[in-house]
Amino acid sequence: MNLFDLHGKVAIITGSTRGIGLAIARALQDQGAQVVISSENADDCDRVGREMGTLAIPADVTDARQLEKLVHGTADHHGGIDILVCNAGITGRPGPFATVDMDDFDQVMAINLRSQVTLCNLALPHIAARGGGSTILISSLSSLRGNSAINAYALAKAGVAQLARNLAVEWGPRNVRVNAISPGFIRTELSAPLLADAAFVQRRMAMTPLRRPGEVHEVAGAALFLASAAGAFVTGQNLVVDGGTLISDGT
Ligand code: NAP
Repeated sequence: MNLFDLHGKVAIITGSTRGIGLAIARALQDQGAQVVISSENADDCDRVGREMGTLAIPADVTDARQLEKLVHGTADHHGGIDILVCNAGITGRPGPFATVDMDDFDQVMAINLRSQVTLCNLALPHIAARGGGSTILISSLSSLRGNSAINAYALAKAGVAQLARNLAVEWGPRNVRVNAISPGFIRTELSAPLLADAAFVQRRMAMTPLRRPGEVHEVAGAALFLASAAGAFVTGQNLVVDGGTLISDGT
């Protein structure tokens, strides 16, 4: 048995036009899944969909009607859904909570957390109707430690890990597994400003046993494990993919 085989499976991945989401889409497709590409930018969706020879459905994750179109469009086209990856996210404006801009706060919450609730409520009944499957919610290492600069983002991502636990309990009896992944510092457009900050990188690498940023395929590997039969008895977990940053005391 190939524990990672995904032939016959249908997977929606939000925010899959670049970065971690695109790497997850590629990894699932490489194992035989029919992947559905999505982001808020229709041109990017078309381009990536064409490149990968797969269905692309644009959707701004803050818009419930667009999420309905994403879920129903996928189910209509492929006959069902087996895997959902809620990956779309933004960091918002950095700074302490004392200076937080509440409009920015609302947007970060809407994109990073609220959208995942909406999307899961739309997609999990489809996954259950196929006899079960896997949902992966992208959280963040920043939600597991205190921080004076990452405000609403860390709060939203902590909510995402809790959402995975709640939904795992709700949907487990119908064989739907729900897990979170918490990436550490991964080389993408989102982390580019931090990667350009030499002092930050030096401090961060000193705290990271593997002494390097992660690459997108290394998060995709964790997603493939959780999406496939390899992870079939794992649910409600928050898998940290961070080169060891969380467990290190910095020595
Ligand atoms: P990225 O390169 O900035 O890509 C983000 C993706 O999300 C893009 O496809 C973007 O599409 C999409 N997106 C953003 N807002 C959207 C919206 N309103 N509706 C639909 N799609 C939207 O980010 P990344 O680094 O790959 O991050 C992916 C996930 O991992 C995020 O949830 C992030 O918080 C999390 N994460 C990343 C790191 C890291 O170090 N990179 C660490 C921890 C967690 P558009 O271009 O169309 O907006």
